[in-house]
Amino acid sequence: MPEWEPVIGLEIHVQLKTRTKMFCRCENVFGGEPNTRTCPVCLAHPGALPVPNERAVDWTIKLGLALGCDIANRAVFHRKNYFYPDNPKGYQISQYDEPLCTDGAMIVPGSDGDSEVGIIRAHLEEDAAKTIHVGGATGRIVGAAHSNIDFNRGGTPLVEIVTQPDIRSAEEAKRFLQLLRQTIVELGISDAEMEKGTLRADANVSVRKRGETGFRTRTELKNMNSFNHIARGIDAEIRRQIEVWESGGEVVQQTLDYEVKSDTVTVRRRKEEADDYRYFPEPDLVPIEPPRDLVERVRADLLELPGERIHELTGEVGFESALELVATGNERTARSLVEHGLDWPTAANVAMNQLAGQEPLAENFPALVAIIKQRDRITREAYHASFASSVVTAIDSDEVLAQTAIADTSELEPLVDRILAANTAQVESYRGGKQGVLGYFVGQVMKETQGKADPKVVNDLLRKKLDA
Ligand code: ADP
Ligand code: ZN
Ligand code: MG
Repeated sequence: MPEWEPVIGLEIHVQLKTRTKMFCRCENVFGGEPNTRTCPVCLAHPGALPVPNERAVDWTIKLGLALGCDIANRAVFHRKNYFYPDNPKGYQISQYDEPLCTDGAMIVPGSDGDSEVGIIRAHLEEDAAKTIHVGGATGRIVGAAHSNIDFNRGGTPLVEIVTQPDIRSAEEAKRFLQLLRQTIVELGISDAEMEKGTLRADANVSVRKRGETGFRTRTELKNMNSFNHIARGIDAEIRRQIEVWESGGEVVQQTLDYEVKSDTVTVRRRKEEADDYRYFPEPDLVPIEPPRDLVERVRADLLELPGERIHELTGEVGFESALELVATGNERTARSLVEHGLDWPTAANVAMNQLAGQEPLAENFPALVAIIKQRDRITREAYHASFASSVVTAIDSDEVLAQTAIADTSELEPLVDRILAANTAQVESYRGGKQGVLGYFVGQVMKETQGKADPKVVNDLLRKKLDA
């Protein structure tokens, strides 16, 4: 589809992990017995007054600065009025035309260079309660017998981030979200897990002919619960829109759900005109006026951003590995291995494979590096076991390195001969050109030696005999 260009903008919601909720002192924790963490404020009893959570404000400023935003001198909470059971007040306290953070940008490194995604705004609001639809196949309201509401989530601090329509592919949208998520996690303000709903993202999608200057009508995709589903949903919607335009039709503005199983989008509701939320300033709250010295202090404390570190690491391990290291959080382990004397490619490989998602105890790095450097000398079993134990207990490199692999040809040769003699058919098929059979023979030798043979020596021996 070379003549069509996708245009994508994202709206992201992040639940902050403050100790208490946004406007009351109820505990803010994920899950738990439904409707046990509520109070007159978050249940909207008459006369209850909201008090803003100062930490939530500070954290939103922190995130805004990490996204290169301007921090408002004056930000205002508004009431966003709508009627739905997840919202006992009949309105959500949100921000409207004077949000805390505006006009930022995030650099998104890619294999073919950087792109920049503008951030229109990041504002602070409160989350709605959670509705759970019971009965029916999809877990959605359509076909459900009844719905339950859990008010524990109601009033959780929520940051909404809205990007410019600067994203040009599903893959770029996914990369943007990976980096945004990592930034949020590193700031320590949210666990940002899509499976828990502490990070949620909707995608606005349109397509246009390459070279066109204006944008065409967009649709809004919801209900995607992983970065991969978001990318696939966007791709499905791009395909659908191109087909609509090419068959002489017109894309209409609507909200869609992505169905993973069928890899298609379905209409949730048509959006004929803008929603009317009758926004007005929240009369129970004064405007937020962040002190400039606080903003500058937070700015000075910001660490290097994930995108910047990907730049730096690309020189060491290439772009794909750099992105994976940073986005998976395995970067820290790789860096420690390098600090203890390992080369970058090996360190990256071990951190993303043998140690993926696990952090060895700090004291174990010297031993681990010694073991990795001599990995050809020891048994596979001892090698792999050392990683598993390094996470839980002190490891002794001498002990691991003593479990040497059998590299002695005089010991391995009779075994190799025996295995070749017992498998004449495979020998013939190898000699007939099926090189892959070599792996079968290596496997047999490993099995007979209980994994103690040096795979490199075994390989050499086998080749020598088979190619003879
Ligand atoms: P609204 O106020 O109706 O929600 P916004 O202008 O705030 O609309 O945009 C919402 C989101 O839609 C933003 O992420 C923006 O980048 C994106 N967007 C706007 N127009 C388009 C378009 N034509 N194609 C794709 N995305 C768009
Ligand atoms: Zn409460
Ligand atoms: Mg909007």
